[in-house]
Amino acid sequence: MSLLEIGCCGAYCGTCRALADGVCRGCRMGYDTGERDIEKARCRIKVCCIKRLGAEHTCADCPDCLTCDTLQGMYARKGYKYRKYRQSLEFIRRHGCDRFIKAADKWKGAYGRLP
Ligand code: SF4
Ligand code: SF4
Repeated sequence: MSLLEIGCCGAYCGTCRALADGVCRGCRMGYDTGERDIEKARCRIKVCCIKRLGAEHTCADCPDCLTCDTLQGMYARKGYKYRKYRQSLEFIRRHGCDRFIKAADKWKGAYGRLP
């Protein structure tokens, strides 16, 4: 598992079906090598995160994480998955990426149960 499989917002690409099916290239993969161009990305969270912090980071590393309108605006949307992404990012902030990946390894999608 690669740390790059964690999406900037906390969605987990590592077990996301869209990545496995080849319909999505993942949130952060390819930006670290220059294979993908962040200027062409459409997600505002990802664009901000990768431009500001670099492809090796998620919003969990951002000092403005808790007050950011872009990120918190997404989490405030209707939908269970947004609550779960918030929970994942909060877990990463508290416990780090390695522990998150260990917990998320058996998920069947972009979110799941955390200890
Ligand atoms: S919503 Fe944006 S930040 Fe979250 S995983 Fe998708 S591309 Fe990445
Ligand atoms: S400002 Fe917001 S979107 Fe940008 S890196 Fe920080 S938390 Fe993420």
